[in-house]
Amino acid sequence: MKDIPIVAERFIRYAKISTQSSEQNKTIPSTEKQFDLANLLVKELKDIGLEDAQVDDKCVVYATIPSNLPPDLESKVPVIAFNSHLDTSASESDENINPQVVEYKGEDIILSKDNTVIISSKENPQLNDYIGKKIITTDGTTLLGADDKAGIAEILTAADELMKLGSKKLHGKIRIMFSPDEEIGRGHVAVDLKKLGAKFAYTVDGGEIGGLEIENFNGAGGSIEIKGYNVHPGSAYGLMNNSLRAIPEIFKLFPKELAPETTKDLEPYYHPLAIKGSVGNISLYFILRNFDASGLDEQMKNIQDGVNKVQSLFPDLKISVKMEKQYKNMKEILDKFPYIVEIARKAIEKTGLKVIEDPIRGGTDGARYSFMDLPTPNIFTGGFNFHSKKEFIPIFAMEKAVETILNIIDIATEWFLEKNSQI
Ligand SMILES: [Zn+2]
Repeated sequence: MKDIPIVAERFIRYAKISTQSSEQNKTIPSTEKQFDLANLLVKELKDIGLEDAQVDDKCVVYATIPSNLPPDLESKVPVIAFNSHLDTSASESDENINPQVVEYKGEDIILSKDNTVIISSKENPQLNDYIGKKIITTDGTTLLGADDKAGIAEILTAADELMKLGSKKLHGKIRIMFSPDEEIGRGHVAVDLKKLGAKFAYTVDGGEIGGLEIENFNGAGGSIEIKGYNVHPGSAYGLMNNSLRAIPEIFKLFPKELAPETTKDLEPYYHPLAIKGSVGNISLYFILRNFDASGLDEQMKNIQDGVNKVQSLFPDLKISVKMEKQYKNMKEILDKFPYIVEIARKAIEKTGLKVIEDPIRGGTDGARYSFMDLPTPNIFTGGFNFHSKKEFIPIFAMEKAVETILNIIDIATEWFLEKNSQI
């Protein structure tokens, strides 16, 4: 493709490879096709000079940019890693993605012939910052996969630039890791953080330009089982115990004013996800989210107490709840290492951007890694409308993400050499 920077070229090449993960498959990786991209990345990493690039049997790609510091300084600068994920969300198809490079002129971008998929500045006011600039969109039939192939393209491009600069830019050892199955919350199971061998890391998996994410939900999830007794309605008198009868009471445990659709910012929610079953047996699946760890404990207790109460109202039914914690707020860990976040803040500012720190109303692989001894905040990719056919990414934002990665490396190197600090 002509007239687009190499980071965009790379992104478009990766976006065309289908890598959707699958919640149903229990294998690691959940889908074999993630290897298609992983294998290409190993080749491209080797092409830019990262000789040790390899993919393991769990579909995790590892590579090293060796330190170019003099031996006496090398031990002062810790190993830093950058990570993004290979898979795309299953919310929309990622087969035959056909990325479109368009210049944004301030008007709505109509992607589908039936006018149902439209990117507008009404929905995305930030688009006004990109008038006259090139953005990459879908053709209206698939998602784009900027989440997170943009992150991969940005990390790889930063690595490429660093290798080309050689001794002109001093840095410690940098590790790169591309991992599978983030979208189904299983990336942390595939990775080997000992093998990665970094002191801290950054995921490049955020959205809007300038974004730095250091805080995410504490999450729990589970199911409520209602067991009744089903017989033919014709002979049901005195025998049938209909589990559906308990549903209105069970729903009161999930208040409408504390739902995903009625809460924002730092507010917690209760979310009934799915329900299946009939007279004899019903399962209701739910998740609970709270930025405060003790708040989540309280929510779990409310569900347990509520279920006990409903049980007492329906003695003929057997009602039980199973739930467990899913992930924790990484802020708990990152607060212990303020310099990791500070380095990212300074790097974004050095790129000439305003730092946007919004809490993530979800989880990230970085949150998991943070609790596995690898503190990992998340920085922006520049993309918008992830998981949807309206997903798009301005090329300018991708270039700024590359610059930010390089600035993180620069600032971290200076930081540790000057402070002469050990961690
Ligand atoms: Zn992502």
